[in-house]
Amino acid sequence: MAENISVNKLLQEFPLLEDLQSLKTVLWLNENKGKNPALEAEFSFKEVLEAEQRLNRFSSYIRVAFPETVASKGIIESNIREIPAMSKWIEARCNSNFAGKLLLKCDHDLPISGSIKARGGIYEVLKYAEELAIENNLLDYQDDYARLNEDSFHQFFNRYKLAVGSTGNLGLSIGIMGAKLGFQVTVHMSSDAKAWKKQLLREKGVEVIEYSSDYSKAVEEGRKQAALNPMCHFIDDENSKALFAGYAVAALRLKKQLHDANIIVDADHPLFVYLPCGVGGGPGGVSYGLKKIYGDNVHLFFGEPTESPCMLLGMMTGLHDEISVADLGLTNQTEADGLAVGRASKFVGKMMEPILSGCYTVEDSFLFKSMRAIWEEEQIFMEPSAHAAVFGPIALFNEGMSYFEQNIVNPENATHLIWSTGGNMVPEEQRQEFLKKKV
Ligand SMILES: *Cc1c(COP(=O)(O)O)cnc(C)c1O
Repeated sequence: MAENISVNKLLQEFPLLEDLQSLKTVLWLNENKGKNPALEAEFSFKEVLEAEQRLNRFSSYIRVAFPETVASKGIIESNIREIPAMSKWIEARCNSNFAGKLLLKCDHDLPISGSIKARGGIYEVLKYAEELAIENNLLDYQDDYARLNEDSFHQFFNRYKLAVGSTGNLGLSIGIMGAKLGFQVTVHMSSDAKAWKKQLLREKGVEVIEYSSDYSKAVEEGRKQAALNPMCHFIDDENSKALFAGYAVAALRLKKQLHDANIIVDADHPLFVYLPCGVGGGPGGVSYGLKKIYGDNVHLFFGEPTESPCMLLGMMTGLHDEISVADLGLTNQTEADGLAVGRASKFVGKMMEPILSGCYTVEDSFLFKSMRAIWEEEQIFMEPSAHAAVFGPIALFNEGMSYFEQNIVNPENATHLIWSTGGNMVPEEQRQEFLKKKV
């Protein structure tokens, strides 16, 4: 934290901090929503459209390299679905009447790496690979990119390195995609990373460096080491615009899915979206894209563990990456490994200032209750982090009914979309352990 900021002074200015410190679940509503113009100088929607095009170019390669994507023609995408039984389960936990339609966005089921990181992480690897191949006159934009699966390309990419710092899932995405293309990949893993994720990467020939400290340290070390090697591209989860663009493509795809399902989003039929937030890139990119498409008719909320509310803290105080949850005395210890981040991305926080409706916190015990419920009711397995999204409607209907009034929204007509962010790579043994967990 910057030397001149005192926690006592912040506590006076932001009384909600006291609740954060005492690990109460809170809902923070963003008063800056709609106030400042979006930062077009920092990031333009053009980059999202380019990302969509690039992913289309790569689809023929993805299809041959990952046969599980044949049905989706090499496009890495997940479904939306209704979860009626979960809707009742959520309703039972709301003090006010839960109203509206409930949908699940199934990113726990994304092909290749089984989490939302299959959007941003894989996209940045493909973008770098394309740049290298084009610069070296090995590839043309008009080519059939299935060529990239040939040995000669594998040998070419093998001269280059990729590095990333991760709590687990970003490492999986970069490692699986990078290794498939032929890159030498190093993943700097924080202490939260689950053993099976490290093992899976090592089996794929990825170098895994383990740290006894948290995510911020793993990223910092990775960034430092990568800077020493000009042949190494560092995928910077805290600052990368390519990652952000890759995540944002999800919004274009969701628009089509909602349209195809005859779900209207307009002033009378608002869309509420709840996303689990770690450093911010995944939920931030998706939110940026959705705001561009739906404007005032979409309402975006981020969920974070009570021990790791870094985005809430950074955005509410306006200090972004200058303050960490440790400054409040929080541990950043959570079973939601994908969300175990103590310091939020400043780039994302700034981008979210005019966009985000709010942030809420959720207890780890809820994540496991929700995991069991959705498993028993709908036979869907989502990893702990993803359940931070399930708490969104509960937080809003219990603490934020004023939000509907302020925004002149009738909850009866709303669609609530829970963005499930991870799960299908979790091995059976680990699933059973999670599902049996006493909470
Ligand atoms: C990484 C991750 C998130 C959050 O994404 P950030 O970009 O870190 O905010 C949420 N859920 C899961 C399962 C993740 O792996």
